[in-house]
Amino acid sequence: MNKRNAAPAVLPRLTSTQLAQFLAAEERATQDPDTVRPDCTVCGAPVTGWVVGLGMEHEDERVVTVQPCRHQATYSVKVAEVVAANVRAQAAAEATDLDKTRVYLMPVARLELADEPDVTHLALYSWCEPVKEWTHGMGICGRSTTQGALPDDTEVTCPGCLKWKPVYDQILAQRNQKEASR
Ligand SMILES: [Zn+2]
Ligand SMILES: [Zn+2]
Repeated sequence: MNKRNAAPAVLPRLTSTQLAQFLAAEERATQDPDTVRPDCTVCGAPVTGWVVGLGMEHEDERVVTVQPCRHQATYSVKVAEVVAANVRAQAAAEATDLDKTRVYLMPVARLELADEPDVTHLALYSWCEPVKEWTHGMGICGRSTTQGALPDDTEVTCPGCLKWKPVYDQILAQRNQKEASR
């Protein structure tokens, strides 16, 4: 008798935390095959790799088989999509080499409104611990902006922001120096 014909045991389902760790490691592994993967969720053994296959229960179920212990766990593709979006957002927030104790001047985009001048502004950009994100307010010229910093080599074209930049540069240099010496 082939053991494979026995009724399959119910596989453990990955919790959203385990799934987040799995997806983050999978993302890292695309850049670095030697990346450290989370330990097996069944036996706790170190994991050297995994294979993802289709599950039997639902069409959106996936089964992860980890190497070398060959334990299996399942997850839902729909849940994974939500978790993956969170993982990406967090990775993007952490990928900057900005210092969370400092405040920066960063280029930011105008509001997409017809009567807004078509320019790139500067805004104070700082780490917001309660929401664990880098955030900014309005442009230093006083205009509202679209949330999200642009790459820091983006050319700033707002005359108002350019006018105020030297003042803010000086204030921030003093503030950041004080913060550094605390
Ligand atoms: Zn295992
Ligand atoms: Zn501006």
